[in-house]
Amino acid sequence: MTKMQAAIFNDIEKLDIETLDVPQIRPNEVLVELKACAFCTWEQRVFTGVNTVQFPFIGGHEESGVIRALGADIDPKLWHVGERVVVGLMTSCGDCHNCRIGQEGSCTDFSYEKPVGGLSVRGMGGFAEYLAVPITKLFPMADNLSYEEAALTEPLSCVVHSIDTADVQLGDTVVVIGAGIMGAFHAILARQRGARVIIDEPSVQRQQFMANLGFQEFINPKQEAAVPAVMRLTGDQGADIVFNTVGNSNLVADSIAMAAIRGKVMLYSSFHPDNPVQFSPNTLHRRMTQIMGSANSDGQDFFKALNLLNTGVIDVKPFIAGYTTFADIEAGMRRALDPETYRIILRMNQ
Ligand SMILES: [Zn+2]
Ligand SMILES: [Zn+2]
Repeated sequence: MTKMQAAIFNDIEKLDIETLDVPQIRPNEVLVELKACAFCTWEQRVFTGVNTVQFPFIGGHEESGVIRALGADIDPKLWHVGERVVVGLMTSCGDCHNCRIGQEGSCTDFSYEKPVGGLSVRGMGGFAEYLAVPITKLFPMADNLSYEEAALTEPLSCVVHSIDTADVQLGDTVVVIGAGIMGAFHAILARQRGARVIIDEPSVQRQQFMANLGFQEFINPKQEAAVPAVMRLTGDQGADIVFNTVGNSNLVADSIAMAAIRGKVMLYSSFHPDNPVQFSPNTLHRRMTQIMGSANSDGQDFFKALNLLNTGVIDVKPFIAGYTTFADIEAGMRRALDPETYRIILRMNQ
């Protein structure tokens, strides 16, 4: 087979199915037939025009598939045709200083718009049926994990990075602002680390979803101001760690005010728009607040996230809201835009 299908963004709200050449593999690459790719908020923002890219552009960076061919230099004792894999970190160069020290998520040559995977269209490539992938970007899946679950390794890896950076400890009180998929993953991993988790989320539907996952402490900021609510729930101590997963910079001041003395504030989400924030330097000084950020993930975060999925420690099945195919991809994307929807997954070759 020499031709394949791919979904290409040709303009805002214009996602077309086109025929591309199947990528040629280089000696150090394998050919991966993709089976599943999730629609991240990032692609949704390309679709709606919030994230600006140069068209044509191929999205998709939460993907899994199966190895169909090995390049000449690949050791067949280490990798084999038919092996099921997650593909990740496609946009990191592997050669810059940060990549070489294992901080691929901070690649200085990083761009969403590089052509990757041997494709003729620029972009991250997950919305294509085949990719040429260097083995440094392959992560092996367990037999019992579905391709759809495995496609959620990338978002989980970003949250692993955030949880590790904030260093959640046994017995910490953690506030998670926002229970979209990223907030929900923060709540789950923080609980896994032995923290008490309080979820600050206005949507009753999302609160119910989290309650079904066993969470018990919620703040509805539409009914009660979030900062006094955290103080009420923590005996006026505040939270050891506040994870903000909502891209509204008005929430930053609240996040700082919720933190305990010596508490930490993690700015996880990107901010749209990126409005400046005022804070009292003396308050931070006196209360020894640590403000930190987290974005993307490194190879080790991918391994950790996939271990959590492969071993069943974390179950992401509840986050799979539905499936789509190339034929219905625009309808699938529109469904993904609904804030009450967690992940919609493009199924290919199955
Ligand atoms: Zn993503
Ligand atoms: Zn790099």
